[in-house]
Amino acid sequence: MPGSLFLWPCSGNNDLMSRTLNIDWHARAAQLRPAADAIIDGQAVAAASGQRFDCISPIDGRRLAAVAATDTADVDRAVMAARRVFERGDWSARAPAERKRVLLRFADLISAHGEELALLETLDMGKPIRDSLAVDVPATVRCLRWYAEAIDKLYDQVAPTSQDALALITREPVGVVAAIVPWNFPMIMAAWKIAPVLAAGNSLLLKPSEKSPLTAIRLAELALEAGLPPGVFNVLPGFGNTAGKALALHMDVDCIAFTGSTATGKAIMQYAGQSNLKRCWLECGGKSPNIVMADYPDLPRAARAAADAIFFNQGEMCSAGSRLLVQEPIRADLLAEIARHARSLVPGDPLDPATRVGAIVDEAQLQRVLGYIDSGREQGARLALGGQRVREDTQGFFVEPTIFDAVQPDMRIAREEIFGPVLSAISFDRLEDAVGIGNDSSYGLAAAIWTRDITVAHRTARALRAGVVYVNCYDADDITVPFGGYKQSGIGRDKSLHAFDKYTELKTTWIDLS
Ligand code: NAD
Repeated sequence: MPGSLFLWPCSGNNDLMSRTLNIDWHARAAQLRPAADAIIDGQAVAAASGQRFDCISPIDGRRLAAVAATDTADVDRAVMAARRVFERGDWSARAPAERKRVLLRFADLISAHGEELALLETLDMGKPIRDSLAVDVPATVRCLRWYAEAIDKLYDQVAPTSQDALALITREPVGVVAAIVPWNFPMIMAAWKIAPVLAAGNSLLLKPSEKSPLTAIRLAELALEAGLPPGVFNVLPGFGNTAGKALALHMDVDCIAFTGSTATGKAIMQYAGQSNLKRCWLECGGKSPNIVMADYPDLPRAARAAADAIFFNQGEMCSAGSRLLVQEPIRADLLAEIARHARSLVPGDPLDPATRVGAIVDEAQLQRVLGYIDSGREQGARLALGGQRVREDTQGFFVEPTIFDAVQPDMRIAREEIFGPVLSAISFDRLEDAVGIGNDSSYGLAAAIWTRDITVAHRTARALRAGVVYVNCYDADDITVPFGGYKQSGIGRDKSLHAFDKYTELKTTWIDLS
C-alpha cells in the first residue's frame, strides 16, 4: 500500500471507509457486465474453438461471465501478433521516455477505473472490497508508475577494457514474454510482470488464472486505451493444461514469467526444456516461519501481526506466516492474544466495506483447506480456534480463521502449503531449534524473527534460508524491494530494478579502436 510499510490496509483508514461506505456495491455488482473475451492483437475475440468457461463468484456461486477458453490455436495467433509487433519495433524500439508516457497513462486509467476494477476483483476471487480498493488497485497503479518512471533513468555500461577497444554492455528486451499468474492477487501479481515486461520494451502474453480472469481482460482494454500498440499486450484466459501449457511449450515464446504453485512451476521448467529452452522465472509457494522470542517486549503487537500474517486475504498469501514458532514461556499468552484478534476477523459479505475476511476462491480450494483442518485434528494438533465452514447459506465458500496449537514439525499442517486461514503454532525452547525447524522446509519464501536483541535479530536473519526476512514486523511491502524465494519457492525476483534482469538480455558489443 503506497505510503505504508505494510501490505495490509490500516484498520483505521477512515478516508477510504467513508468513501466506500456510501457506495451500494451490490447494486453496482448487479449492473456489471464484465468483458469476457481474449485480447489478441488489439482485438477482443472469442476463442478459435468457440469454447467458453463459466466464471463463478465465490461469494454466492453466481455466474459472472462466460469467458473465452483459449487454447493452442489462440496462443499461436497471439504469439505471432506479439512477435510481429516486437520485430517491427512499434513498442520495443520506442524511446524509453515514450514508453514511460504510455505506461503512466495506463496507470492513470487504472486509477480512474479503480472502483470498477476493485469490484471485479472482489466478485471474481472473494476478497473484501475494502482490500481490493485499499491494497490491490493502489499497488497495481504504483507498480506501473514506478517501472514507467524507472525506464528512462537506466544507463548501460562501458567495460573497462584496454584503450584499443570499446566494449559496450547494453540491455535489450528479451522479446516475447508469457506471464502466467495465479488468483490470490490477480491484478497485483499480473502488474508485477506487466510493468517491468512492458517498460523494458517486450511484447506480453498474459494468462490469468481460470479462477480469476476478469481484471486481466479489463487491464488489457485500458492499456489499449492508453495507447499501447495492438499486439504488445495480449490476454489469453483459459486453463493451465491448455492455454498455459501451450505458452510454456511454444517455440517462439522467449521467456515465461510464472507465479503459482511449486508443482506447476516444475512442469513449466520441463516444458521449457522440451521446447526452446525459454527463460523461466518462477515465483512459487511458501510455508513461512514466523519466530517470536520471549524477550520481544510488545506481545500484543507481535500477536496482531501474526494474525494478519495468516488471516489477511483469507490466508491465500504465498508469504503467509503459516508456521508460528513461539518460545515456550510466552506460548499461551501469545496464542490467546492472536485468538482474541482472530475472533474479530469474522468472515463476512465481501461487498460490505466493513468485512475483513472474505470468501475462499472456489469450492476446490475450500475443500483443500477443510481437508488440512481435518488432517491437523487427526494427527493430534489441538484446535484452538475456528475450523468450520461458515455462511454456507450464501452458497459462498467461507472458512473461519483457524488456529492449531501443539503442532509437531512433521505434521502435514506444518509442512505443506495450505493457502487458507489456518495457523500452525509450534513451540520451542532454544532459538537454534526454531531456526532449524524454520529452515526444515522445501520452501524458502519468507520468514520473520521478533526479538529485542539486535544481535540475535541479525544473526537469525542471516541464518534463515528465505528470500525475504522480516525483523519485528511481517509483510512489510514496497515496490522498491525484491520479492521471491529460496529453494522450491522459486527462481528470480519480482519487484524492484532487479526484475529488469529477467526481462532483458545483456549484449556485449566489441568495437576495435586499434
Ligand atoms: P497454480 O500453479 O495452480 O496456477 C497458477 C497459474 O498456472 C494459473 O494461471 C494456472 O492456470 C496455470 N497453470 C496450471 N497448470 C499449468 C500447466 N500445466 N502449464 C502452464 N500453466 C499452468 O497456482 P494457483 O492455485 O493459481 O496459485 C496458488 C499458488 O501460487 C500458491 O502455491 C502460492 O504460494 C503461489 N503464489 C506465489 C507467489 C510468489 O510471489 N511467490 C505469489 C502468489 C501466489
